[in-house]
Amino acid sequence: MPIDIATNLSTIQQRIDRACQRSGRDPHQVALIAVSKKKPADLITQAAAAGQPLFGESYVQEFIDKQQQISTPIRWHFIGALQSNKVKYLRGTTELIHSVDRYSLAKEINKQWASIDQTANILIQVNVGAEQSKAGATAENVEELVRRIATLPNVKIQGLMALPPYDDDLEQVRPWFRQLRQLAQQIDDLHIPQVSMNTLSMGMSHDFEIAIEEGATLIRVGTAIFGERE
Ligand SMILES: *Cc1c(COP(=O)(O)O)cnc(C)c1O
Repeated sequence: MPIDIATNLSTIQQRIDRACQRSGRDPHQVALIAVSKKKPADLITQAAAAGQPLFGESYVQEFIDKQQQISTPIRWHFIGALQSNKVKYLRGTTELIHSVDRYSLAKEINKQWASIDQTANILIQVNVGAEQSKAGATAENVEELVRRIATLPNVKIQGLMALPPYDDDLEQVRPWFRQLRQLAQQIDDLHIPQVSMNTLSMGMSHDFEIAIEEGATLIRVGTAIFGERE
Protein backbone atom coordinates (compact mmCIF):
# COMPACT_ATOMS: atom_id res chain seq x y z
CA MET A 1 0.00 0.00 0.00
CA PRO A 2 1.41 3.42 -0.88
CA ILE A 3 1.98 5.62 2.11
CA ASP A 4 -0.40 8.49 2.60
CA ILE A 5 1.85 11.34 3.68
CA ALA A 6 -0.96 13.88 4.12
CA THR A 7 -2.80 11.53 6.50
CA ASN A 8 0.38 10.75 8.43
CA LEU A 9 1.09 14.45 8.82
CA SER A 10 -2.37 15.22 10.10
CA THR A 11 -2.27 12.29 12.54
CA ILE A 12 1.05 13.54 13.90
CA GLN A 13 -0.32 17.07 14.22
CA GLN A 14 -3.22 15.73 16.29
CA ARG A 15 -0.78 13.87 18.52
CA ILE A 16 1.30 17.04 18.90
CA ASP A 17 -1.82 18.99 19.84
CA ARG A 18 -2.84 16.41 22.45
CA ALA A 19 0.66 16.26 23.96
CA CYS A 20 0.59 20.06 24.21
CA GLN A 21 -2.83 19.97 25.83
CA ARG A 22 -1.67 17.42 28.42
CA SER A 23 1.33 19.54 29.33
CA GLY A 24 -0.31 22.97 29.13
CA ARG A 25 1.77 24.09 26.16
CA ASP A 26 0.89 26.12 23.10
CA PRO A 27 1.14 23.94 19.96
CA HIS A 28 2.64 26.91 18.14
CA GLN A 29 5.74 26.47 20.29
CA VAL A 30 6.41 23.04 18.82
CA ALA A 31 7.61 22.75 15.22
CA LEU A 32 7.60 19.48 13.33
CA ILE A 33 10.69 18.70 11.26
CA ALA A 34 9.93 16.09 8.60
CA VAL A 35 13.09 13.97 8.50
CA SER A 36 13.44 12.98 4.86
CA LYS A 37 16.85 11.28 4.86
CA LYS A 38 17.01 8.28 2.52
CA LYS A 39 13.65 9.26 1.04
CA PRO A 40 13.30 10.47 -2.55
CA ALA A 41 12.67 14.06 -3.57
CA ASP A 42 9.14 13.30 -4.81
CA LEU A 43 8.03 12.28 -1.31
CA ILE A 44 9.41 15.56 0.02
CA THR A 45 7.45 17.42 -2.65
CA GLN A 46 4.33 15.49 -1.64
CA ALA A 47 4.79 16.40 2.01
CA ALA A 48 5.38 20.04 1.08
CA ALA A 49 2.20 20.00 -1.03
CA ALA A 50 0.36 18.67 2.03
CA GLY A 51 1.47 21.78 3.90
CA GLN A 52 4.67 20.64 5.64
CA PRO A 53 7.15 23.56 5.47
CA LEU A 54 10.19 22.23 7.32
CA PHE A 55 12.48 19.27 6.52
CA GLY A 56 15.54 17.69 8.07
CA GLU A 57 18.38 15.87 6.32
CA SER A 58 21.35 13.93 7.70
CA TYR A 59 23.76 13.33 4.81
CA VAL A 60 25.39 16.25 3.01
CA GLN A 61 25.70 14.75 -0.48
CA GLU A 62 22.20 13.30 -0.47
CA PHE A 63 20.80 16.60 0.79
CA ILE A 64 22.48 18.67 -1.93
CA ASP A 65 21.37 16.23 -4.65
CA LYS A 66 17.74 16.23 -3.54
CA GLN A 67 17.60 19.95 -2.93
CA GLN A 68 18.44 20.49 -6.60
CA GLN A 69 15.51 18.31 -7.63
CA ILE A 70 12.95 20.23 -5.60
CA SER A 71 11.49 23.48 -6.86
CA THR A 72 8.95 24.01 -4.04
CA PRO A 73 10.34 26.55 -1.58
CA ILE A 74 10.94 24.68 1.67
CA ARG A 75 13.00 25.22 4.79
CA TRP A 76 15.87 22.85 5.61
CA HIS A 77 17.55 21.85 8.83
CA PHE A 78 20.68 19.73 8.94
CA ILE A 79 20.46 17.14 11.72
CA GLY A 80 23.18 14.58 10.98
CA ALA A 81 26.80 14.04 11.90
CA LEU A 82 28.86 16.65 10.09
CA GLN A 83 32.49 16.61 9.00
CA SER A 84 34.22 19.97 8.80
CA ASN A 85 35.32 19.43 5.20
CA LYS A 86 31.66 19.15 4.11
CA VAL A 87 30.44 22.33 5.78
CA LYS A 88 31.11 24.38 2.65
CA TYR A 89 28.40 22.45 0.80
CA LEU A 90 25.82 23.45 3.40
CA ARG A 91 26.75 27.11 3.36
CA GLY A 92 23.65 29.28 3.12
CA THR A 93 21.31 26.32 2.48
CA THR A 94 20.17 25.50 5.98
CA GLU A 95 18.19 27.45 8.52
CA LEU A 96 19.59 25.51 11.48
CA ILE A 97 22.37 22.97 12.04
CA HIS A 98 21.40 20.71 14.97
CA SER A 99 24.54 18.66 15.32
CA VAL A 100 27.42 20.87 16.43
CA ASP A 101 29.39 18.99 19.06
CA ARG A 102 32.91 20.43 18.84
CA TYR A 103 34.65 23.76 18.51
CA SER A 104 36.55 22.90 15.31
CA LEU A 105 33.24 22.27 13.52
CA ALA A 106 31.73 25.53 14.78
CA LYS A 107 34.84 27.36 13.63
CA GLU A 108 34.49 26.00 10.11
CA ILE A 109 30.78 26.89 10.03
CA ASN A 110 31.72 30.39 11.19
CA LYS A 111 34.26 30.71 8.39
CA GLN A 112 31.89 29.50 5.67
CA TRP A 113 28.95 31.67 6.76
CA ALA A 114 31.24 34.69 7.19
CA SER A 115 32.27 34.31 3.56
CA ILE A 116 28.65 35.01 2.51
CA ASP A 117 28.16 37.67 5.17
CA GLN A 118 25.60 35.64 7.08
CA THR A 119 25.26 34.11 10.51
CA ALA A 120 24.62 30.39 10.92
CA ASN A 121 22.08 29.27 13.49
CA ILE A 122 23.24 26.19 15.35
CA LEU A 123 22.33 23.89 18.21
CA ILE A 124 24.80 22.13 20.44
CA GLN A 125 24.30 18.38 20.35
CA VAL A 126 24.53 16.80 23.79
CA ASN A 127 25.16 13.09 24.27
CA VAL A 128 22.86 12.90 27.29
CA GLY A 129 23.25 9.15 27.75
CA ALA A 130 27.06 9.38 27.31
CA GLU A 131 26.79 6.59 24.74
CA GLN A 132 29.98 5.55 22.95
CA SER A 133 28.14 5.12 19.65
CA LYS A 134 26.73 8.65 19.62
CA ALA A 135 28.11 12.07 18.89
CA GLY A 136 27.61 15.02 21.17
CA ALA A 137 29.21 17.05 23.88
CA THR A 138 28.96 15.55 27.33
CA ALA A 139 26.70 17.24 29.84
CA GLU A 140 29.86 18.13 31.78
CA ASN A 141 31.65 19.95 28.96
CA VAL A 142 28.71 21.61 27.23
CA GLU A 143 29.06 24.87 29.17
CA GLU A 144 32.71 25.28 28.22
CA LEU A 145 31.92 24.46 24.59
CA VAL A 146 29.07 26.97 24.49
CA ARG A 147 31.33 29.68 25.93
CA ARG A 148 34.00 29.05 23.30
CA ILE A 149 31.62 28.87 20.36
CA ALA A 150 29.80 32.00 21.56
CA THR A 151 32.89 34.04 20.69
CA LEU A 152 32.55 33.22 16.97
CA PRO A 153 30.85 36.20 15.27
CA ASN A 154 29.09 34.36 12.42
CA VAL A 155 27.60 31.55 14.47
CA LYS A 156 24.62 31.93 16.78
CA ILE A 157 23.80 29.24 19.33
CA GLN A 158 20.01 28.86 19.58
CA GLY A 159 19.75 25.93 21.98
CA LEU A 160 20.46 22.24 22.48
CA MET A 161 19.74 18.98 20.68
CA ALA A 162 19.83 15.39 21.89
CA LEU A 163 19.27 11.86 20.66
CA PRO A 164 18.78 9.98 23.93
CA PRO A 165 19.29 6.24 24.44
CA TYR A 166 16.58 4.17 22.80
CA ASP A 167 14.10 2.41 25.05
CA ASP A 168 10.79 0.71 24.27
CA ASP A 169 9.60 1.96 27.64
CA LEU A 170 9.09 5.67 27.03
CA GLU A 171 9.14 6.47 30.72
CA GLN A 172 12.81 5.44 30.66
CA VAL A 173 13.44 8.07 27.98
CA ARG A 174 11.62 10.90 29.75
CA PRO A 175 14.45 11.66 32.25
CA TRP A 176 16.89 12.23 29.36
CA PHE A 177 14.58 14.82 27.81
CA ARG A 178 14.12 16.44 31.18
CA GLN A 179 17.87 16.52 31.67
CA LEU A 180 18.36 18.32 28.35
CA ARG A 181 15.78 20.92 29.28
CA GLN A 182 17.42 21.47 32.68
CA LEU A 183 20.82 21.77 31.06
CA ALA A 184 19.46 24.42 28.70
CA GLN A 185 17.98 26.25 31.70
CA GLN A 186 21.31 26.16 33.55
CA ILE A 187 23.15 27.56 30.55
CA ASP A 188 20.48 30.18 30.02
CA ASP A 189 20.93 31.29 33.63
CA LEU A 190 24.60 32.06 32.89
CA HIS A 191 23.52 34.84 30.48
CA ILE A 192 26.39 34.20 28.10
CA PRO A 193 26.40 37.01 25.49
CA GLN A 194 25.05 35.99 22.04
CA VAL A 195 23.71 32.66 23.35
CA SER A 196 20.04 31.76 23.26
CA MET A 197 18.63 28.59 24.81
CA ASN A 198 15.16 28.97 23.33
CA THR A 199 15.34 25.92 21.08
CA LEU A 200 15.22 22.33 22.32
CA SER A 201 15.45 19.75 19.54
CA MET A 202 14.38 16.39 20.95
CA GLY A 203 11.95 13.60 20.17
CA MET A 204 11.60 11.27 17.17
CA SER A 205 8.84 9.04 15.76
CA HIS A 206 8.59 6.75 18.77
CA ASP A 207 9.01 9.28 21.56
CA PHE A 208 8.06 12.77 20.36
CA GLU A 209 5.02 13.08 22.63
CA ILE A 210 7.14 12.53 25.74
CA ALA A 211 9.68 15.03 24.39
CA ILE A 212 6.90 17.62 23.94
CA GLU A 213 5.69 17.02 27.49
CA GLU A 214 9.27 17.71 28.62
CA GLY A 215 9.63 20.94 26.65
CA ALA A 216 10.75 20.14 23.08
CA THR A 217 10.36 23.06 20.66
CA LEU A 218 11.52 21.08 17.61
CA ILE A 219 10.69 17.42 17.06
CA ARG A 220 12.42 15.39 14.34
CA VAL A 221 10.07 12.83 12.85
CA GLY A 222 10.91 10.58 9.91
CA THR A 223 9.42 7.08 9.96
CA ALA A 224 5.98 8.16 11.21
CA ILE A 225 5.66 10.44 8.15
CA PHE A 226 7.50 8.66 5.34
CA GLY A 227 7.47 5.03 6.51
CA GLU A 228 10.42 2.78 7.33
CA ARG A 229 13.77 3.59 5.73
CA GLU A 230 15.75 1.07 3.68
C1 LIG B 1 16.79 9.74 11.41
C2 LIG B 1 16.75 10.73 12.49
C3 LIG B 1 15.53 11.13 13.07
C4 LIG B 1 14.18 10.56 12.68
O1 LIG B 1 14.01 9.29 13.24
P1 LIG B 1 12.60 8.51 13.10
O2 LIG B 1 12.71 7.45 14.14
O3 LIG B 1 12.55 7.96 11.72
O4 LIG B 1 11.52 9.46 13.37
C5 LIG B 1 15.58 12.10 14.05
N1 LIG B 1 16.75 12.66 14.45
C6 LIG B 1 17.93 12.30 13.91
C7 LIG B 1 19.17 12.96 14.40
C8 LIG B 1 17.96 11.33 12.93
O5 LIG B 1 19.16 10.98 12.41
